[in-house]
Amino acid sequence: MTFTPHGKHLIAGEWIGTEQTFTSAPANGPVHVFSVGTADLVDQAARAAEDAFWTYGYMTRAARADFLDAIAEEIEARAEAITEIGCQETGLPEVRLNGERGRTTGQLRLFADHIRIGEYLDRRYDEALPERQPLPRPDLRAMQRPVGPVAVFGASNFPLAFSTAGGDTAAALAAGCPVVFKGHDAHPGTGEIVAEAIHAAILECGLPAGVFSLVQGGTIDVGQALVQHSLIKAVGFTGSLSGGRALFDLCAHRDEPIPFFGELGSVNPMFMLPEALANRGTELGQGWAGSLTMGAGQFCTNPGIAVVIAGAEADAFVEATRAALSESGAQVMLTEGIAAAYANGASRVGQQTGVQDLLTSMCDRREAKPFLFRVTARDWIDNHVLAEEVFGPLGMVVVVQDADEMLSVARSFTGQLTATLHLDDADAALGRRLMPVLERKAGRVLANGFPTGVEVSDSMVHGGPYPASTNFGATSVGTLSIRRFLRPVCYQNIPAALLPADLARAEERPGLHDY
Ligand code: NAP
Repeated sequence: MTFTPHGKHLIAGEWIGTEQTFTSAPANGPVHVFSVGTADLVDQAARAAEDAFWTYGYMTRAARADFLDAIAEEIEARAEAITEIGCQETGLPEVRLNGERGRTTGQLRLFADHIRIGEYLDRRYDEALPERQPLPRPDLRAMQRPVGPVAVFGASNFPLAFSTAGGDTAAALAAGCPVVFKGHDAHPGTGEIVAEAIHAAILECGLPAGVFSLVQGGTIDVGQALVQHSLIKAVGFTGSLSGGRALFDLCAHRDEPIPFFGELGSVNPMFMLPEALANRGTELGQGWAGSLTMGAGQFCTNPGIAVVIAGAEADAFVEATRAALSESGAQVMLTEGIAAAYANGASRVGQQTGVQDLLTSMCDRREAKPFLFRVTARDWIDNHVLAEEVFGPLGMVVVVQDADEMLSVARSFTGQLTATLHLDDADAALGRRLMPVLERKAGRVLANGFPTGVEVSDSMVHGGPYPASTNFGATSVGTLSIRRFLRPVCYQNIPAALLPADLARAEERPGLHDY
C-alpha cells in the first residue's frame, strides 16, 4: 500500500493547502510537493487547540487513554505505508523504521496505562484542622493539571518515535494538552501519514478536532510564530543547540514566558577505567565502534568521547576501535544539511591543536563514514571546540596521564544526556571518585554498557544540565516526561461538589476510588 502525500497541513480536522510550496528531498524514491506553513495557519491551529482544551483537558483519564490506544492502532493499520515513505525520506533501513514504529505505538500504550493508573497526578491531602491553635488549618488538596495547548517540534533523527506521534506528543496528549505539531522538513510525508492516523483516532473517539494539528515547515517563520503564540503554554523540542537556543530565547522573551523543553546536544563521554581496559580492551573497542556507527551516528546519545589513561592497554583499546571503525562502510545520512554539517565538524576537529587523526574518511554527498581522533587531556580541556557535538559517527579519544587528570576531564564537561563508566571490580575506588562528578553532569549515568538504545520506561531520564537540555528538571523519554506538561494546583476548602473527580475522596463521591 503506497502512500502518496497530498502535501497539506492538518488544521483542526481540515487538510489545508497554501500557494507557496517546498519539495521533499528523499534519500531515494519520488520527490513530493508540500505546502509551506504560515503564521496564519499556526494561529488557526492554536485557537482550535485552545477551544479543544476546554473539553479534552477536563475529560476522564480513561477516555484520554482510549484515544492514545486508538492512535497506536491507526498507526499500525498504516504500518507498511509508513515504513515505505519513512525509508524513502530518511534513508534509514526498513528494520529501523519498523522498530521505531513499534517503539512509537509502545510509547502511546505505555502512556495510556500510565494515566489509567493515575499516580502521575501526585495527589496530596492535608486534612482540615478546625480546632488547631493559634490558627485552624483549611482542607488542602493538590494535584497535577494539564497546562493547556502545547507546541511540539519533531526530531529529524527519529521520524516516528520523536516526531508527529512521538514521545512529546504522547506525553502532552496523555497529560490532557492539545498539540500543535511543527512538521520536520526532513520527513514531511511521514509526518503527513502519521497525522492522518491521529486524525482518524480523533474521529473514532469523538474528540474536538483541535486536539491535534500539523503545520508543515518550509520556512523558519512557522517555528517562531508557534513558540510566540499567546495560546501556546509549553514547548517540546528535539534538535540542534543553535535552533533550540533560538526558540528557547523567544519563549523567554514573550510577554508571558513559557517553559521550553529542549533536548539539544551531547557528546556522551565514556570513562574507560584501567582494569576494565586491561581485561577486555579489544571487546570494548569493538563495542564502542558498533555504538558510534549505529544509525550513522545520528543519535543524541551517541558516545562521541572515550577518556583513557595512557598506556599499553589504552593503545590496544584504541587500535581495536580503529580497526572496527575502518571496516564499517558508508551510511546515508538523514539530510544533505546534516551530512554537510558532519563533514564540516570533522574537518574543524581535525584542525585543532594537538589533535591526531587515527582514521579519516572521505564522505560523498549525504554519506557518513567514521572518523577517529586522539588528543591529550591538556589540549582537550583548553579547547571548547573539541567538546562540541559533531552529529554523526565521529569518535574522540582523550588521553589522560592518571586518575587525577581523568577527574579533571570529567569536571570540565558541560551538561550531558549520558555519562558512562566502563569498570571492573578493581576499578571501584576510581569509580567512586568519578560518580559524584558524573551525577552532576548527566541525566543518566551508566556502567558497562553503551548509551545508545534509550529504554522507554518509568525510570528513564533523557535530559540533563544545559546544553544537554534547557530544563534539568525534565526528561523527554519515559513516563516521567508527562510532568513537563502539567502544573500543580492546590484546592483550598473547595466543596466536594466542585472538586475535580480525580481529587474527591471516596466518601465524598461514592463510586470513585480513594487515594
Ligand atoms: P534543527 O535545525 O535544530 O531543527 C529542528 C526543528 O526546529 C526544525 O523543525 C526546524 O524548523 C526548527 N528550527 C530550528 N531552528 C529554528 C529557528 N531559529 N527558528 C524557528 N524554527 C527553528 O535540527 P535538525 O534539523 O533536526 O538537525 C540539525 C542538527 O541538529 C544536526 O546536525 C544535529 O547537530 C542536531 N540534532 C541533535 C539532536 C539531538 O538529539 N541532540 C537530534 C537531531 C538533530 P525548520 O527546519 O523549518 O527551520
